[in-house]
Amino acid sequence: MAHNSTKRMGKTKKIGLWALVVLIVLYAAFRIIAPPLLEKSLNKRLDYSGQQPSAATLALQADMTIMDWHSDSLLWNRNILQSADYGHADIPRLQAAGFDLMMFTAVTKSPRGQNIAENTDDSDNITALVIAQGWPVKTWDSLLERALFQAEKLDDAVANSNGELVWVRNQQELATLRAARGEDHTSRTIGALLGAEGAHPLEAKLANIDRMYEAGYRMMGITHFFDNALAGSLHGVSNAGLTPFGSKAINRFDALEVIIDLAHVSEAAAWEITKQSPRPQVVSHTGFKGHCNTDRNFPDDLMKAIAAKGGLIAVGFWEQAVCAPTPDGIASALIYGINLVGEDHVVIGSDWDGSTTSLTASDFPLITEALASRGVPEATIRKIMGGNSLAFLQNWLPAE
Ligand SMILES: [Zn+2]
Repeated sequence: MAHNSTKRMGKTKKIGLWALVVLIVLYAAFRIIAPPLLEKSLNKRLDYSGQQPSAATLALQADMTIMDWHSDSLLWNRNILQSADYGHADIPRLQAAGFDLMMFTAVTKSPRGQNIAENTDDSDNITALVIAQGWPVKTWDSLLERALFQAEKLDDAVANSNGELVWVRNQQELATLRAARGEDHTSRTIGALLGAEGAHPLEAKLANIDRMYEAGYRMMGITHFFDNALAGSLHGVSNAGLTPFGSKAINRFDALEVIIDLAHVSEAAAWEITKQSPRPQVVSHTGFKGHCNTDRNFPDDLMKAIAAKGGLIAVGFWEQAVCAPTPDGIASALIYGINLVGEDHVVIGSDWDGSTTSLTASDFPLITEALASRGVPEATIRKIMGGNSLAFLQNWLPAE
């Protein structure tokens, strides 16, 4: 009996070990196969590879300063230092299109059935995504850890880039980037700013603003798709303005010279912030409601108030922002903005890799071409593509 039971136990152990090996192999396969499939299904591409920009456009593209206020590329496991044949952007593709700087934005929570009309905060798709992508266990149940991990990912990319990707966290680093790129714009160095899609990673603690600042965050959205401890979302349930905690957070962002991003926040909260804060704000990825009447966009009077304070409106490249996400449709939104708030306040905020369907960084010059063909003067194109953003950052980033 004893002998038989030992034998059986041995057999059970063996089966257990095999089951474990099979599970590990399946998990490894899942980890390798699932993330790219998932990303391909969420970051869909509009293909303009058949359209060639003119030589004049390519010359302007190579010569002008180009800065983008919004990309969610850090959410995915794809190595941003390598050129990929999926997703919208990575460093090699940004370099080829002549980019000087990208604002990388961290997504930390996204409701199931996410839509631009109304979402609650009681579900989250990002949890499954971070587990499938094998992110550290501490990120599984902490939005703060998810934000800190994305800061680490960016820091690792900078460290492994041979100087081709550099942090821009203050005026000094911005000046270093400018010097590295040189007058002739032949250098491939790209600057990276870090921002958050909503301030729920603060987990309702003011002290976490300083932790995120130390990790490199220099722009904070207030909300994403759902109401949070700071304010109502443009796509939430309450449509509320700032909470008392939200109002205190605004003061702390301002004290640290963190740029406040009004994208996704309720109209009530956006109005309150423009009144409370002595600094100008940015809408990092948006369209104009007067041009494209969706629940994703702010009305024209609010956009004018943001610009009147010296703020920037960054036009996105996807359908809910610009209605027609073609190079010409994006140009139309930019031209509408120039006519509404003036050419000093309109910039670009692609929302690449933000679960959007859009043209990729490789086809970006076609937007420049569309602006030129619509009669927008070269000096204005230069402002929109990067000149305005550079001037803003030179004023509003911390000195050091
Ligand atoms: Zn967004």
